[in-house]
Amino acid sequence: MTNETSFTDLGVDEPIRRILAAKGYTAPTPIQARAIPLLLSGQDVIGIAQTGTGKTAAFALPIVQMLTKSQRRREPRALILAPTRELAGQISDSIETYGKNSALRVAVIYGGVPQRRQTDRLRRGVDIVVATPGRLLDLVAQRHLDLGFVEHLVLDEADRMLDMGFIPAVRKIIKALPAKRQSLMFSATMPPEVSRLSQEILHEPTRIDIAPKAMTVAAILQVVHFVEGANKFDLLCDLMADESFSRVIAFTRTKRRADRVTKQLAKAGIKCEAIHGDKSQGARQRALDSFRQGRIRVLVATDVAARGIDVTGVTHVINFDLPNEAEVYVHRIGRTARAGAEGTAISFCASDERDYLRAINALIRTPISVEGGGKLPQAAAPKGPRPIRNSGPRRQNHQSRRRGDGDSRAA
Ligand code: AMP
Repeated sequence: MTNETSFTDLGVDEPIRRILAAKGYTAPTPIQARAIPLLLSGQDVIGIAQTGTGKTAAFALPIVQMLTKSQRRREPRALILAPTRELAGQISDSIETYGKNSALRVAVIYGGVPQRRQTDRLRRGVDIVVATPGRLLDLVAQRHLDLGFVEHLVLDEADRMLDMGFIPAVRKIIKALPAKRQSLMFSATMPPEVSRLSQEILHEPTRIDIAPKAMTVAAILQVVHFVEGANKFDLLCDLMADESFSRVIAFTRTKRRADRVTKQLAKAGIKCEAIHGDKSQGARQRALDSFRQGRIRVLVATDVAARGIDVTGVTHVINFDLPNEAEVYVHRIGRTARAGAEGTAISFCASDERDYLRAINALIRTPISVEGGGKLPQAAAPKGPRPIRNSGPRRQNHQSRRRGDGDSRAA
């Protein structure tokens, strides 16, 4: 699709291209190929895309490039809003990387930590602020931050902002921005409230639609095990006996279940940590660092805490509990197979979760393979193009099955 396009063709300048080459980005991803030229020409863009598609670089590269060419000042000239601290942290890390040759000053602002370091940073002057909405509003109200010179606004994961109740805060922030600015919005889905917000924020935007199937789902081997709740933990231990499960994210429905699974895994001698909304920012960061550095094999997470986690080399995503929203499933499994790598998503489905599975199969169109001889009940046969496949015994080697599977999963 983008085989012939290069970052040079898209108008990315040489200092940034050098950084991309060093990071091993040989070609732009589809969303980058479409978004970068539009952004560099000053247009507003709405991107329907999720993490794993390369969307951070799609907006970060043009912004870094444009800011190096506009007048530097004390107040921020770009504002990026993200729903979670983790995502804000990752976006700011990406910008630091892409902007390494540009001497841009980046501040990341989120709640749950003392504000002193953040205000000190702002006082010294910044070019780009990456923030979650609540703390940003606090700092604006306390006059630590003047948003009156923002030239570029990015609203990332707008649908998640909505889920988390941030839309009123976002509206207040927008009021503090100059009317003349470039605005970008990214969202994996487009519920009516998000669509309304986009009409308020964006000016004649170009819409870029990167379907989830195109990248995330197609590259991931997906299987489901029918297993009752009481047996889920044993199944998890069974799977973990396979050493190829070396960097695993396990999703649970609640924080309490995350803690319980973590405790049980630790008892079974499997190195793990939990990450969820009740953990302090420091504890979450430490858990993420341990996971990134391979000191733990399993990160047990709830959806909100895991939002935006960008760890490369995640071998398996395990849905210990199925999510009750099909889109969340796509977000979860997008943690593996990042940047074109291969990955496996394994879902545990108890009898009271079968409706969730049906909704997921309907959304992703290619039904998930069933492991361990189970079958979806009759009513579950989704309208998608392919029949459900029964793929034999549970302990089968996932890697070898993947290869045989390639064609049938192609989007
Ligand atoms: P994102 O969708 O922004 O969360 O990015 C997903 C992952 O893809 C991140 O680990 C990026 O570092 C990586 N990535 C982004 N753009 C490219 C590219 N053009 N080539 C290879 N990897 C990329």
